[in-house]
Amino acid sequence: MSLLYPARCPVCDDIVTPKGELICERCRHKLPYIKEPICKCCGKEIRRREQEYCSDCQRIPHHYTEGRALLAYNEVMQRSVSAFKYKNRQEYARLYGRELARVFGRQISRWGAEVLIPVPIHKSRYRKRGYNQAGLLADSLAEYIELPVDSRLLIRTKKTTAQKSLNTKERVKNLQDAFQVKKSVVQYKKIILVDDIYTTGSTADACAGVLKDGGAEQVYLLCLCIGSGF
Ligand SMILES: [Zn+2]
Ligand SMILES: [Zn+2]
Repeated sequence: MSLLYPARCPVCDDIVTPKGELICERCRHKLPYIKEPICKCCGKEIRRREQEYCSDCQRIPHHYTEGRALLAYNEVMQRSVSAFKYKNRQEYARLYGRELARVFGRQISRWGAEVLIPVPIHKSRYRKRGYNQAGLLADSLAEYIELPVDSRLLIRTKKTTAQKSLNTKERVKNLQDAFQVKKSVVQYKKIILVDDIYTTGSTADACAGVLKDGGAEQVYLLCLCIGSGF
């Protein structure tokens, strides 16, 4: 696909020039990269370094070990991710995968994981949409780092109601049985989950929970976007 037509810019959606670039010069500075200090657990921006954890992670213990996110989920990113997910802008994954690799390459090596696993979507949603945006991110990232992508092990067995309308407790319940591993034993010890948006971490926790039940020891998390919230 990438060879057939020039990329559209994930920020303004215009065709990027010159050909081969993945974002316009004028849009580059509009990407809201996450800046230090960040929460030691989820990677969200926090106000003061002494805080160590964001208020969410202070309250809720997570099943995943540690997470990092590339960009703040602001207005620019809300528009971009919405087009990436719902308007077939699959090509945005090219820039986002490259940036995940550039920013987190060292972190990924430190984690020492064996595999990237995208957070799955339900198969009916996959049929309708034709792709899983988290899978595209993982595939694109994998072009720059030496890790395989496993999109088959973890599946989504339940279509979950929109998490937005639920409180934390309801989210956890809603997600508890939504994921499953296809094999009786998870063959990886250290896994990096890849997802597009992180809000409370309940999706990541549900995935990490089933992977650990299957035998994984550490589950890390890389997200394209993360909400703010100190
Ligand atoms: Zn642009
Ligand atoms: Zn946090």
